[in-house]
Amino acid sequence: MGAITHVLRRSPELKNAVYVGMGAAGAIWRMGRGGRSADRTSELRILMYHRVSPRRVDTYTTSPERLRMHLRLVAASYQPITPTTLLRAIEERLPLPDRAVLLTFDDGFLEHYEHAYPALRDAGLEALLFVPTDHIRERGDERHAASIPYTPLDWTHLEEMRDVFTIGSHGMSHQKMTELPRATAEFEVSRSKQIIEERLGTPVSFFCYPFGTLTAYDSELEAVVRTAGYKASFVTIPGPNPDEQVWAGGALRRHGVEPLSRFALARVLDGSSDVVQGMIRTRRVPVEA
Ligand SMILES: [Zn+2]
Repeated sequence: MGAITHVLRRSPELKNAVYVGMGAAGAIWRMGRGGRSADRTSELRILMYHRVSPRRVDTYTTSPERLRMHLRLVAASYQPITPTTLLRAIEERLPLPDRAVLLTFDDGFLEHYEHAYPALRDAGLEALLFVPTDHIRERGDERHAASIPYTPLDWTHLEEMRDVFTIGSHGMSHQKMTELPRATAEFEVSRSKQIIEERLGTPVSFFCYPFGTLTAYDSELEAVVRTAGYKASFVTIPGPNPDEQVWAGGALRRHGVEPLSRFALARVLDGSSDVVQGMIRTRRVPVEA
């Protein structure tokens, strides 16, 4: 199994094929049970995107065309919810609609402004954008851009995109919170929230753990996030979020969907590839040019 998961992590094409294969098996299984899982209630599926670029920079890159295809599928066949709807659901313990989907983008690449923003706007959709505050530059400050391996957004972009993106915190330095001294992690959790709130003048309700794997957070950090005033935290572990988990706002699961085909994305959204996704947690790997 180790060798297979190793190959799958590096090959999105193969991942597509496996999701589709498992999805087909799941669909046949569900047909035998009357078309639906017996225990299926409303459960939120959260999609996670990183780079959006015509050039495939790493295995987490989605092309703008593929993103637009995903957005069309979500808008046509699912119930896309806005971050505001999620916040209300948490605060008032409201059930989310059946087939609810939330879109999220991580890290704050300039590509989010160039490609994701217009795609979302054209589709009439909103999304959550998680930024590490140390990476967000001032407009015109090229020195800052040189210190990280990609071109980040600047604060003016974030202001400009507020009709589409709700900004959440991704910490400050984008380090694994569990590997930082606890006091530093606590500082990053609360200070990043303050910085975004001061710059954009709106409350920040959502926190996303850098890396977001099982080893990237713990119950103590969850308490820190709550004490800082966040309403929910997000991780990168795939799976559904039943209403009770949404209301608790703790460690909401997300599916990395770069760069899935239409059919494979549909298998993610209907839950039929949950088992196999749990086995092959994707890792970001640079693509050799
Ligand atoms: Zn990140």
